[in-house]
Amino acid sequence: MDKTASPAEYPDQPALVRYPAPVLRRPAAAVTLFDAQLAAFCQRMFAVMEDERGVGLAAPQVGVSRRIFVTDHARRKDGEEPCPRVWINPRIVSPEGTTVYEEGCLSFPGIYAKVKRHDRFTIHWQDLAGAEHSENLDVGAGQFLGIVVQHELDHLDGTVFVDHLTAVQLGLVRKRLKELEKTYREETGKAGSPIRR
Ligand SMILES: [Zn+2]
Repeated sequence: MDKTASPAEYPDQPALVRYPAPVLRRPAAAVTLFDAQLAAFCQRMFAVMEDERGVGLAAPQVGVSRRIFVTDHARRKDGEEPCPRVWINPRIVSPEGTTVYEEGCLSFPGIYAKVKRHDRFTIHWQDLAGAEHSENLDVGAGQFLGIVVQHELDHLDGTVFVDHLTAVQLGLVRKRLKELEKTYREETGKAGSPIRR
């Protein structure tokens, strides 16, 4: 599905888009209107994320090229209290150190690979009312959320976790990428935007 919602429009029934949908490659536009439509859309994003059993979901993953993602990092473990959070117009400053974590992505079903990320950083974002917030995150100190937000923030810049893989790592997932490309062609009649390297 290559849904390219116009900036002010949020779909009533957002559906997950998978690789190689072109919207996953498009840098998303800032949110400037903090209204009821935005809040309702974020609630629908949580529903998609829960259906797909994810810990994070970025708006481009449901075809909306806007700088929004939602997370619930506690969903990774059974028995942990849910921690749903909305991040609008997020940005990372003062990154320090590196860490490696095995990641997956709802838009790349069946692909998992170790990705290098920042270990510590500050993230700034806005909430549904447009108010500014910031928080320091430290992956090395056990904050898995620090991995999730870096992965989701990438989506807002048209970057996917597979872009971070080495040539050797890419070779290991190539077959699965080809399968996803074939499925996309069958479903849409289009080639989409396959990774070319
Ligand atoms: Zn992802």
